[in-house]
Amino acid sequence: MQVHVNGNCIGCGLCASTCPDEFFLTDGGTAAAVSPEVGSDLADQVQAAADACPVSAIEVR
Ligand code: SF4
Repeated sequence: MQVHVNGNCIGCGLCASTCPDEFFLTDGGTAAAVSPEVGSDLADQVQAAADACPVSAIEVR
């Protein structure tokens, strides 16, 4: 799985709470992915974060 946070992010912090191993808030106040490549161990959490993002800013494929 690959993950990318797009420019829609409003910095609500939900993804960083849902999956802190993959998402964090930058100094600029928006989220970023720790790594664009997500291992199978985190895939479910990352998908849950993407589904819960209020502005659909987390793109997974
Ligand atoms: S859940 Fe979405 S809007 Fe909120 S910080 Fe994460 S990427 Fe940004």
